[in-house]
Amino acid sequence: MILGSHVGMGGKEMFLGSVKEAISYGADTFMVYTGAPQNTRRKEVSELRIAEAKAKMSEVGIQNFIVHAPYIINLGNAAKEETFQLGVDFLVTELQRTEAMGSETLVLHPGSHVGEGIDVGISQIVKGLNLVFEQYNGPVKVALETMAGKGSEVGSRFEELSRIYDGVTNNNMLRICFDTCHVNDAGYDLVNDTEGVFKEFRRFFPTNQIAAVHLNDSMNPRGAAKDRHANVGFGTLGFDTLLRICNMDFLSNTPIILETPYVPREGAKEREFAPYKFEIEMIRKGVFDPELLERVRKEALGE
Ligand code: FE
Ligand code: FE
Ligand code: ZN
Repeated sequence: MILGSHVGMGGKEMFLGSVKEAISYGADTFMVYTGAPQNTRRKEVSELRIAEAKAKMSEVGIQNFIVHAPYIINLGNAAKEETFQLGVDFLVTELQRTEAMGSETLVLHPGSHVGEGIDVGISQIVKGLNLVFEQYNGPVKVALETMAGKGSEVGSRFEELSRIYDGVTNNNMLRICFDTCHVNDAGYDLVNDTEGVFKEFRRFFPTNQIAAVHLNDSMNPRGAAKDRHANVGFGTLGFDTLLRICNMDFLSNTPIILETPYVPREGAKEREFAPYKFEIEMIRKGVFDPELLERVRKEALGE
């Protein structure tokens, strides 16, 4: 199992800091955004401290990591030409940055159709990806994330992702990022029928198309179309379901990334403490710890 979490990138250390953060969690892999996920302001590649980060990774044996594109990219927007064009242009530079950093996977939310309907959304996404792959044809693949179906999100059904593959000319540039919270919220029954969900998945894609897993529990019941992540074992999917997914044969070489929420202080709202070291340890042990969130708090507060 190759297990890690989302980590930050900022300050003076930039990408080197991301690697150090992953190491502090005892992770084998990690995921970063190349800047704030809500905007497209980005530092020059030369300022990211890539060489030092790579040296650190090879020192500890971290072999791969993934990058997540910002959510403001919306290739599904057929209503606003600027939004669409901005998405295309930014995605090309993001692929170049991802390549410079040394990852082969850039995770992308396929897009939202903003009220124009799923068919229009899909054809707009296809158009956008075709424009992107006319300009970028390197080693980095775009992993389309399985979505929760919140608002007008495209890609909550495997069939919708498959239609995107069908439309994209150079679709060997595409992969899938399988988000467990989103798949649950989209209506698939991972809890009672994990095998059945992957069997359904295989109707559209071979499982080797899964380039990354986002391992999140869900705060909401199956089919809620909500997208609110919960800590592993503290949501409606539960520890056993998530562990079963981690241990599936075909995922043994696939980065599994936690995007679970930070833990607040007792009674507080603001989420302050990273749970990843504890969640990673718990998953590796294979035993649920009901005191996990309490332990995260205690260690963070030095108690
Ligand atoms: Fe995502
Ligand atoms: Fe995700
Ligand atoms: Zn999510």
